[in-house]
Amino acid sequence: MKTLMALAVAVVVLLPSCLRAAPAKPALEVVVLGSGGPRPFGRAGSSFIVLVGGRPRILVDAGPGAFLRIGELDLDLGKVDTVLLTHLHIDHSGDLPAFFNARALTSEGPVAYRVFGPDGAGLFPKTSRFVNLLMGEDGAFAYQKTFGAPETFTVRDLAISLDSARTKIVDEDGLVVEEIATHHGDCPSVAYRISYESEVVVFSGDMDASALPNLVQLARNADLLIFNCAVLDPPGSPSQLYDLHTPPRKIGEAAHESGVKSLLLSHLAPDVLGQKTAVRKSIGASYGGPVAFASDKMRVPVGK
Ligand SMILES: [Zn+2]
Repeated sequence: MKTLMALAVAVVVLLPSCLRAAPAKPALEVVVLGSGGPRPFGRAGSSFIVLVGGRPRILVDAGPGAFLRIGELDLDLGKVDTVLLTHLHIDHSGDLPAFFNARALTSEGPVAYRVFGPDGAGLFPKTSRFVNLLMGEDGAFAYQKTFGAPETFTVRDLAISLDSARTKIVDEDGLVVEEIATHHGDCPSVAYRISYESEVVVFSGDMDASALPNLVQLARNADLLIFNCAVLDPPGSPSQLYDLHTPPRKIGEAAHESGVKSLLLSHLAPDVLGQKTAVRKSIGASYGGPVAFASDKMRVPVGK
């Protein structure tokens, strides 16, 4: 018997790799680069890479530390040409030039980026101006274009009024990206929905509860909703933070109402992490699906 088993193992080992069944790749996977928020406590700022058909394709936000996590994970950036920015706070965009730098130095040929992010208001530039201030001819990092691969940037500014319609911004080869305006205090913000082969992941970005009707509409029946959970239920966090972020009880209500199949909480701070049981209980008051807390370098298959 032992000999037979050894023989079977040997046959499997000796089979040419092309004859072995390759493990099925999930249609969509999310790699968490940064699961933290604006305060430094060991987690990178908010950032995710979405793999489509097993290959990294989309960067969602670029918080400080994303560059480091990309290197630690040895991620192949060769096909990452789509950048979705939920808003332009530093904890979501501070590593954007570092990402462009990493991409240029680790892959070959010209790079044509398409970047999406909110329109401007108040102190916040529109996304096209933001990218131009960084990477444009008169930008701070204009040198970058001569440094690695030749780069072009096509930037689209997205509507930020809460009554703006949900909009499809990418539709190619089965990959669909949609967005809708949200609300994050005085900072223009949007949420994104990514679909591929009937799997769906939604990124809330940072948003206060006034935008929940839009988020619920965008997240309808998604396989995975990644919600930024930066505060505790009132009065557990400083009151001004509720003008910027949605508390757990309302996150649970939104997850239930939209019918999402699972929930991943990110943008975590020490006070929220110290109250995991209370946060779960609060979300569980209305949402019965699985709830997980993100950590840097976590890899999450979407759906199935
Ligand atoms: Zn944030």
